[in-house]
Amino acid sequence: MLLKFPIVQTAKKCGIPFDQRTLGRAVVEAQCPFCGDQRHHLFLYTSDDHFHCYRCRAHGNAVSLYARCNELSYANAYHELADDKILRLPQKREPRPQAVEPAPIERRHAVYTALLDSLALSQEHRENLLERGLNSEAIEAGGYRSLPYGKEVRDALAASLSQDCNLMHVPGFYTANGIWQFTAWSGLLIPVRDHLGRIQGIQVRLDRAEKRKYRWVSSADLPNGAPARGWVHVTGDTGRRTACITEGALKGDISSLLTGGTLFLCVAGVDSTALLPETLKALKIRKVYETFDMDKLTNPHVRDALKRLQKLLAANGVQYRPYHWNPEYKGVDDYLWARSRAI
Ligand SMILES: [Zn+2]
Ligand SMILES: [Zn+2]
Repeated sequence: MLLKFPIVQTAKKCGIPFDQRTLGRAVVEAQCPFCGDQRHHLFLYTSDDHFHCYRCRAHGNAVSLYARCNELSYANAYHELADDKILRLPQKREPRPQAVEPAPIERRHAVYTALLDSLALSQEHRENLLERGLNSEAIEAGGYRSLPYGKEVRDALAASLSQDCNLMHVPGFYTANGIWQFTAWSGLLIPVRDHLGRIQGIQVRLDRAEKRKYRWVSSADLPNGAPARGWVHVTGDTGRRTACITEGALKGDISSLLTGGTLFLCVAGVDSTALLPETLKALKIRKVYETFDMDKLTNPHVRDALKRLQKLLAANGVQYRPYHWNPEYKGVDDYLWARSRAI
């Protein structure tokens, strides 16, 4: 029987420096030893013990990490790891804190609607949305808002919302010393809606970020807070039984608009498909076009995820069709926008 080795402990054995704040999480961030990474682009996935560098795309399991770091053959790396008694000890599982369920959809929708109503869209964000292919009506309908910088702004927001709404377990809200707070990075807020148009959750596009620009508004592990789930954003004509699937709510909104209302199902990441089956069922989807970014042709991590997606769709009785376009355009929205301007 082949042994499996824990990715974080193996990386430790390789002397790879970690982002200490991420230790103990499901995904640990570290400095990639292969590409002169000065930040932490190497992600160590503890769920399946694989590593992936978002800078140089190095990718593999614990054995290949150890082999490449120590210039060993795969077989020799395997034997060295197998001889390491500490690596072979059963891994201590961190006791997970009691999982909190987010507030039900009706309450999330009410709170998030009130939140967006009390914010404006900055001129800068509006121009950016127009440049990406949206028009004024679509911007209005989408409900995008700007969350300004500064803790005072967020504290005031939480204080005023808590007067009218029950913020308990609504992802993004939590209490400190009994006072409601709103945790989020500043940036563009993007509502993630269900098949009935209700706001399930909110994603924020960070203004100043290189990696992982999009994050869920979440207050996991905070008092009276809750984690966000991998909610699927639904945009376009929900009467159709054929849909496109892509990564990112904003990308879907733009692509749907540019194609006259094509139904788009938008997951937050290629691996974030746990809630997809219930969306497929609610909309009675029969056929799905996969329109993930074109780096799917070269990124092994995405390729693996697409194989899993294909299986998931088959298991739900949904036909799968990959959709490719000129890879000069990374996102399907970039491609559609370029095409619509060329006509
Ligand atoms: Zn790298
Ligand atoms: Zn990977």
